[in-house]
Amino acid sequence: MSRVEMGMPALRRSGRPSLDGRPDTSELIDRFGRIAHDLRVSITEKCSLRCTYCMPEEGLPPIPRDELLTVDEIVRLVSLAARHLGVREVRFTGGEPLMRRDLEQIVAGCHKQAPDIPLSMTTNGIGLAHRARRLAAAGLRRVNVSLDTVDRAGFARLTRRDRLDSTLAGILAARDAGMAPVKVNAVLMRPTLSGAPDLLRWCLDEGCQLRFIEQMPLDADREWARTNMVTAAELVDVLSSRFTLTEAGRGDDPSAPAELWQVDGGPATVGIIASVTRNFCGSCDRTRLTADGMLRSCLFSDQEFDVRQLLRSGAADAEIADLWRGAMWNKSAGHGINADGFEPPERTMGAIGG
Ligand code: SAM
Ligand code: SF4
Repeated sequence: MSRVEMGMPALRRSGRPSLDGRPDTSELIDRFGRIAHDLRVSITEKCSLRCTYCMPEEGLPPIPRDELLTVDEIVRLVSLAARHLGVREVRFTGGEPLMRRDLEQIVAGCHKQAPDIPLSMTTNGIGLAHRARRLAAAGLRRVNVSLDTVDRAGFARLTRRDRLDSTLAGILAARDAGMAPVKVNAVLMRPTLSGAPDLLRWCLDEGCQLRFIEQMPLDADREWARTNMVTAAELVDVLSSRFTLTEAGRGDDPSAPAELWQVDGGPATVGIIASVTRNFCGSCDRTRLTADGMLRSCLFSDQEFDVRQLLRSGAADAEIADLWRGAMWNKSAGHGINADGFEPPERTMGAIGG
């Protein structure tokens, strides 16, 4: 299927999405019966690293200050999503969320307005060592820290910055601040593949849950190639040289993206998110908000809806909720990476929020 057949037109903004045929429900249902309960909120395009699978060397073009959602705007949208749209969990991402000095205010505001919603963050951990306790006190429950290798030179090559120690310190500080278990995310890349057993050993020793993720074609350098990507199957072979892995399903949540493997008889596990070779689009329950206030139904869609403009025009909650419902009603069936003629979306991972 082509991208157009998958329902993915070229980048389109504003406008009102069609609600034709949508059942009368407050939740974020799409045409395929999926309901989005998990909101990803990107809060910045800035980052302290330049991971080759994500950012260009020079960083992303800066979002003009007046286009970035403010603390109050983020809090209003998160609270509205929780109260009116059935959102049950919220994760802050970016760019690097720790690049925002007002992150603690964002977390505290969301926690106050939506106290029952678990708040979490995906981060590279740089600077977290100094902020983990404050963030936990503000209401942040969990973090996923991205770490691809524990080899200092390998880390510096992959991220284009020599900051391994800072990331490791961030992970340990989050754990010690009670945000346990800390999950560690590692993107599968050929240069760091042989170090995967060392990374797993480190995570097991420090009580972190490691999850490997297949690289998706969302890099700014557009260098992803199907023929060169490391697959989940390859990783299992590499890890099996040092550990005994036993398949353990998807844990408590059958719609969770990570397939779990028990390590050396358990109870510790390692997760593998095979986003490309065994995609889980059929059970996707995500909805996304970009740092500049665009609603997106899928990482791979080029269709966006401008909620910032609506917010700033004085719209009522009901109007914003309807825009969001329409954006999700028109979600496409899947990412289409394996389809002939696949083309990556215009925005890259760092600009959408992973
Ligand atoms: N800066 C934070 C971090 O690195 O965790 C949050 C933003 S980052 C875009 C979110 C997640 O996306 C990270 O776990 C990162 O490893 C992952 N990621 C980035 N580019 C990716 C790609 N091309 N394929 C798969 N995962 C990717
Ligand atoms: Fe920054 Fe995260 Fe992208 Fe790495 S993956 S460049 S840390 S936004």
